Amino acid sequence: MPHSLITIDDVLKNIRVPLDAKKEALVRVAYEMAGKAHRGQKRKSGEEYIQHPLHTALNLAKIGLGARTITAGILHDVPEDTEITLKQIEEKFGKEIAELVDGVTKLGHIRLRGTKEEIYLENLRKMFLAMAQDVRVVLIKLADRLHNMETLDALPENKRRRIALETMEIFAPIANRLGIGEIKARLEDLAFKYLEPKNYELVTKLCKEQYEQRKKQINKVVSELKQELQKEGITVIDTFGRTKHLWSLFQKLKRHDMDINKIYDLAGIRIIVPQLANCYETLGIVHKKYRPLVGRIKDYISLPKPNGYQSIHTTIFGPEGKFLEVQIRTKKMDDEAEFGIAAHWIYTEKKSRIRDFFFRRKGTQSPEVEKEITWIKQLREWQNELGKNDREFMEGLKIDFFKNHIFAFTPLGDIIDLPEESTPIDFAYRVHSEIGDRALSAKVNGRIVPLDYKVKNGEVIEIVTSKEHKNPSRDWLRFVKTSAAKSHIKKFMKREGMI
Ligand code: MN
Repeated sequence: MPHSLITIDDVLKNIRVPLDAKKEALVRVAYEMAGKAHRGQKRKSGEEYIQHPLHTALNLAKIGLGARTITAGILHDVPEDTEITLKQIEEKFGKEIAELVDGVTKLGHIRLRGTKEEIYLENLRKMFLAMAQDVRVVLIKLADRLHNMETLDALPENKRRRIALETMEIFAPIANRLGIGEIKARLEDLAFKYLEPKNYELVTKLCKEQYEQRKKQINKVVSELKQELQKEGITVIDTFGRTKHLWSLFQKLKRHDMDINKIYDLAGIRIIVPQLANCYETLGIVHKKYRPLVGRIKDYISLPKPNGYQSIHTTIFGPEGKFLEVQIRTKKMDDEAEFGIAAHWIYTEKKSRIRDFFFRRKGTQSPEVEKEITWIKQLREWQNELGKNDREFMEGLKIDFFKNHIFAFTPLGDIIDLPEESTPIDFAYRVHSEIGDRALSAKVNGRIVPLDYKVKNGEVIEIVTSKEHKNPSRDWLRFVKTSAAKSHIKKFMKREGMI
């Protein structure tokens, strides 16, 4: 409902973890302040301006964020566009919220002069720096951008294109890297509409037709599977039919001669079960009932996607010989696919009640969440080390952040994520700088490999280290991939007077 008028109650209703009275009051006070401040202002679409911060807040609520982020979301355009200053916001709401608002305001100051490439890099750099300080700033920016995309029709053609392009090149990849699948897909589909209107129409039509054709089939499979699973004593939390998002379908169509019959995951079913073990049991039951398509079984539970996505996928021959993709996952995995990194703040904003829901272990922060935010910590470190050299900083980030990632394991089974083409030295430095500095040789799946070996997904890597001395070598700089490894090696050589 992109153009629907909403109220603060709609925002409050959509907050995933119920707020206590104090927090609800905070959100309402922010709404009153923003409402007054923006009074008389209109959006290009003709709506009252306050609709925009309200929608931004609603988007934040939907991905699971709590009172403080939502409050900042409501206030995000206040210092920039009204009489009320940041200082007044700080006096009323405290430093944390004021800093969030300020971060979003600063992200808005986009340099407009220069080449396309320069503007792009400048934008990207700003997003990264904001992220390194507080990811919530970027989440607010994404929620803000989503509503701007939903109301893009109100802008003139040339602006629409520029904003859509920026969304596709910067905002959607960042949402993806943060694991917020829902926002990523919506941003892409909206940008698609403005960047390639003809293809957008074509794909929308195709998708609708196909789904209409398969609706009956999907419902049949869902009810059959539900029965089977019940018989086997597996509780089904949820099942639903799904279709692919438009932009990702279009990308796939282009790779397959625009032939819709070659797309196996166009329509599918998602099954949500309580426990991890149930996922594999369910897979067995699905395959007993329907023949699976060879080579289409993917276990993203054992080997998660780079952004943390976990699920089992399989493609089956459904009724009438049509393919259907079946996705199987737990509630926790499903929520993480939807919320991504936002799950981390649900945890900090409402520790006790939400912990059991999102995290398997009680009392400690789950290692997965630790992992999810590791790269943000890394971002902060690189920023400190390389911050002065813009070009180097950007190049490093572009490789580490957007390049396809692979997962490797330590001998103890910890997952380490790395950009593609990383070497055992990159792996060593990612585990710990001491291990990198002391690395002598490496074993992959038990066999000795050269240090410039290109690590592949799922490999177990063991680094043999020297107890006596550190020995990074200038040679390593020729093949390491990650900027963290590069900067550690250079730091060591500088210290030793080697450069
Ligand atoms: Mn805004």
